[in-house]
Amino acid sequence: MVFDAPGSKLKPGELKMPEPSRHQLRLRVLACGVCRTDLHIVDGELTGPKLPLVLGHEIVGRVEALGSAVNGFALGDRVGVPWLGFTDGTCPYCRNAEENLCDNARFTGYQIDGGYASHTVADARYCFHLPESYSDAEAAPLLCAGLIGYRSLKITGDAARLGIYGFGAAAHIVAQLARYQGRQIFAFTRPGDARAQDFALELGAAWAGGSDETPPQELDAAIIFAAVGALVPAALKASRKGGVVVCGGIHMSDIPSFPYELLWEERVVRSVANLTREDAREFLALAPKAGVKTTVVPMPLAAANEALDRLRQGELTGVAVLVP
Ligand SMILES: [Zn+2]
Ligand SMILES: [Zn+2]
Repeated sequence: MVFDAPGSKLKPGELKMPEPSRHQLRLRVLACGVCRTDLHIVDGELTGPKLPLVLGHEIVGRVEALGSAVNGFALGDRVGVPWLGFTDGTCPYCRNAEENLCDNARFTGYQIDGGYASHTVADARYCFHLPESYSDAEAAPLLCAGLIGYRSLKITGDAARLGIYGFGAAAHIVAQLARYQGRQIFAFTRPGDARAQDFALELGAAWAGGSDETPPQELDAAIIFAAVGALVPAALKASRKGGVVVCGGIHMSDIPSFPYELLWEERVVRSVANLTREDAREFLALAPKAGVKTTVVPMPLAAANEALDRLRQGELTGVAVLVP
C-alpha cells in the first residue's frame, strides 16, 4: 500500500522486490501494526517523508534473505522491526547512549520503506527477536506502542500513582506493565467515552474518567499519549508537587498558555522521543514476564485506509494490525 502525497489515500501498488544490502534482512511481512504516527504522516503533520513511501513501523516478519554482514539472524527467523531504523553511531547523542536523539537517525515507515507491504528490507542491527508467546499480530504493537510506552513509563521514575491520558495502543500496554510494577493507574479518555473507560478498568486501572475530570487522588506522574496540547495543563493540574508530565506522542496540537502556578513547585513537562535499542531489549524481555497481552484488530493489508480512518475516529478498541 503506497503513500504518495500528504492528504491522499494509500494506493495498492506493485514495487520491485527489494534485495537486502550487506546489513539488511529481507522479510516476508507477517503482520504490521497501524500507529498514530502513520496518521500524522498521512495528514502531513510530520513533514518530509520519503515519497513515495510504504508506511508501517511495527513490523513482524520472517527472514527470507540476508546480507553478507548480518549477524545474529538466520533464514526463517521471526523478527520485529521498530521505528528506529538507522543511527550514525558517531554523533554526540549516539556517543552518550542517547541514540534515540541521533542527529542522523532514520525511521522505518517514514524515511525508510516500512511494513504495509508483503515484503520489506530492514537493517538487521535494528531488528529484534520476538517473544514466542505472542502471535504475529499480537507481537506487532509491542514494536512501537509497547516500546514508546515503556520508555515513557521509565521516565516517570517510581511514580506510584500514574495518570494516563489517551487510552489507546500505548496506554493499554503501559497500564499492564505499571500494574505488574505495583503502580496505580488513573486513566483519562475523551469525555464520555465509556467504552475506553471500561477497557481501562478491565486492564486494571484504579480509576477511569474523562480528561476534564479531577482524579480522586493527586498524580505522582502523568503520561499523555493523546495528541491534544490542552491535556498538558490539565495533567499538570492533576499532578502533585514535583510531579512529571511526559508527552509520549511525536506530534501534538498547540499547548494553550496556562498560569505559571501549574508548573510551580518543581513540576516538570517533558517529551519522549523515539527509542534506543536498549529500550527494545529491556521491554521485549519484560513484556512476557509481566504477562502483557495486546488487544489487536487484525485487518487485511488492502484495508489499510479503513484501518487509518478507524484509528482517526477513535473507533478501535485495541490496535489495528494489517496482515498481508
Ligand atoms: Zn547519532
Ligand atoms: Zn508508532
